[in-house]
Amino acid sequence: TPPAPQSDLPVLEAPPAIFADIVFDRPLDHAYTYAVPDTLRDRIGVGKRVEAPFGQGNKGTIGYCIRVSDAAPARQVKDLTRVLDDEVMLDDHLLKLTRWMADYYLCGWGQVLHAVVPAGARENAGTKAVTFVEPIPKDQLPNPLPSVTPKQKQALDRLKKEGRPMELNQLARIVGSGPSPINGLVGKGLVRKYSERVDRFAGEEPAEGDQPADGAAPEDAKPAAGLVLNADQQRAWDTINAALGVGGYHAFLLHGVTGSGKTEIYLRAIEEVVKQGKEAIVLVPEISLTPQTIQRFKGRCSGVAVLHSHLTDAERGGYWRRIAAGYAQVVVGARSAVFAPTRKLGLIVIDEEHENSFKQESTPRYHGRDVAVMRARLADVPIVLGSATPSLESWHNAEKGAYTVLDLPSRVENRPLPLVKLVDLRHEPKTRGKHFAIGPTLDTAIRNALKAGGQVMLLLNRRGYSTHVHCPACGHVAQCQHCDLSLTFHRTKAALVCHYCGWETLPLVQCPACGQSAIRYQGLGTEKLQSEIEEKFPDRVVQRMDSDTMSKPGSHQRVLDAFRDGLIHILLGTQMIAKGLDFPNVTLVGVINADVGLHLPDFRAAERTFQILAQVAGRAGRGDKGGTVMVQTFTPEHPCISLAGKHDFVKFAALELGHRRQHGYPPYHRLARLIVRSEKEDAAAKFADQLAGAFREAVHRAGRAARPAPLLPTDGTPPAPVVRVLGPAECPVFKLNDYYRFHFQLQSENSGQLHEVLREVLAVAKPPYGVEFQVDVDPYSM
Ligand code: ADP
Ligand code: ZN
Repeated sequence: TPPAPQSDLPVLEAPPAIFADIVFDRPLDHAYTYAVPDTLRDRIGVGKRVEAPFGQGNKGTIGYCIRVSDAAPARQVKDLTRVLDDEVMLDDHLLKLTRWMADYYLCGWGQVLHAVVPAGARENAGTKAVTFVEPIPKDQLPNPLPSVTPKQKQALDRLKKEGRPMELNQLARIVGSGPSPINGLVGKGLVRKYSERVDRFAGEEPAEGDQPADGAAPEDAKPAAGLVLNADQQRAWDTINAALGVGGYHAFLLHGVTGSGKTEIYLRAIEEVVKQGKEAIVLVPEISLTPQTIQRFKGRCSGVAVLHSHLTDAERGGYWRRIAAGYAQVVVGARSAVFAPTRKLGLIVIDEEHENSFKQESTPRYHGRDVAVMRARLADVPIVLGSATPSLESWHNAEKGAYTVLDLPSRVENRPLPLVKLVDLRHEPKTRGKHFAIGPTLDTAIRNALKAGGQVMLLLNRRGYSTHVHCPACGHVAQCQHCDLSLTFHRTKAALVCHYCGWETLPLVQCPACGQSAIRYQGLGTEKLQSEIEEKFPDRVVQRMDSDTMSKPGSHQRVLDAFRDGLIHILLGTQMIAKGLDFPNVTLVGVINADVGLHLPDFRAAERTFQILAQVAGRAGRGDKGGTVMVQTFTPEHPCISLAGKHDFVKFAALELGHRRQHGYPPYHRLARLIVRSEKEDAAAKFADQLAGAFREAVHRAGRAARPAPLLPTDGTPPAPVVRVLGPAECPVFKLNDYYRFHFQLQSENSGQLHEVLREVLAVAKPPYGVEFQVDVDPYSM
């Protein structure tokens, strides 16, 4: 036994036991308490990742510490195994933000944290073993080729597109599967697998400005480009600058036509914030994350970190640690950069805030713009949302006074907006007895533009050669075996392809249904457009840009460079060509069919059509030569087309908002969409009915249902908020990837009530084996 302490020495008391609350990557909204062993006492901390025994068999599982306390729980708890992080990865703001996301988007906090923190930041050893996969070279492929599942096909395509070996886990995550389909590809001799130890910082490009900034402005910051702001820019800048001086949350909606100098305003705001010793986050759509864009930021600011989506986990993790350590003053990135762990955030900027790519379509199904606004509020800093065609959600917020609108109504240096001509396809004459993709009016315009030395861009938002493959006798349409979608003929591949799951089959000659007649190939895609143009303009250089031709890394940029250098005369493609590109020599932009996306079963169809027309029109006339936009359409009288032709966003927004209000759509009503899916149609239908029924009951129980008019209170109190349940019904695409899908929607003017009902029902909803459901709050896709 140890000797008793002598009375003149201080008595050492045993420190109180401490406990940590941990959340895991599970849909459950529950934290689990663990005891912190003495050895981990110094390492544990809120916002750090840990390993703890969890779930079946108490396997070591990674979780996130959200609370540390010395209050012992009522029952015996297990010990934590490890603390993974030396430093706190998630500060207080990010913890609050992710907690809010879990509540708002109705998923587990741990799921949000798991999605937010890059996997590469999860271990701290110097190197780690990583399994890579790469496609087997063509000449070594087995013969005949084995068949593959849709998931495997997806993985294989993605791997080929990458053009270099990929981490197996990363590939699995991208295609939304476990490792087994990919291991299956290895077994089939289509993919090679190998393992390598990599430096966790491998490939990491240090942010410029090698020292952590400690308050002071970086010395090599370049002076502003010496531009003199025009009056509108000056007014916008003065307003933002004043807010930056005062500090605190303030949301600005910078509404400026393409080429009005919005980016110049962002740059000044960022420079000011950096001068104050703080950091800025800039969100741009992934497709706009081009070297040209990045260069604009790097040319003006030092310490720019770029978060691309094609960084490896290790690279992303490396950036995270460096941003958290203060090495980056400006973080530029796509959607997920909203979570960049800056420690002295001073400003958030979102360019092209209306872009749908800010919405994530897997758990957590968040909208990057809405999360950014919430982060700005939590961090109490200004946020600038910029667009030529603001989302109606943001426009509505501005009308309510929640956002301050700053207008840049004209292009810089008084360059005119391009003249937009609508060509009514119902009245276009035939050529040689035939309707071509390019009618005579557009044909003449292209010839004139090229003759005058200008360049031409042509937009057609549909890939492939023939988009409608059918039998004229019996009406049979070529369909995917796994989805409820018709197949598109791709001539280059010589295959019929499903644009959702990637399933391919040989082109049909004879109708497989009636056997009677020859299959007809109709409907226009970019491939067919290309061959028509090459026929009509044999002495011109034509380039197609869509996800089929631009699959190799860097190819997008190479084509854009060649186009800028004048090596390409006509650039045609999907909306890929419409995004944020600045080509002074483009004097004509042609839209082959403005109606392509207009008749989809989606209440945002008109808004999207307006946006894409405005975007692509913005590509014309950026230089001194001016420019024209020519839009072929069957519905020139539709407001989203006629008003886009007049560059009149404000009128379009007013009209469309009236329509939304009348029909109970966002932004006036909140929507939540529930999707139930199963490989068994009956099971999906049954559970969808049950779940919708449970929602209806919850709505009635709490008196949240719509009341008939006479029951409306007459004493001046507002009527009870209403939650409506619409459906269930089959999803517009009923069968997808072998799953049968039903959906229904909750609709309410009151977001609080909507969430209450959702939480109440989802807390007890339990789908039977083989059935799954998803919740999508503020859904974007149908
Ligand atoms: P937006 O982001 O609204 O499309 P940009 O900020 O990219 O517009 O501006 C378009 C072009 O005009 C850029 O080349 C930019 O450098 C230039 N520019 C911006 N402001 C001015 C100005 N006040 N005077 C002259 N050129 C300007
Ligand atoms: Zn399919």
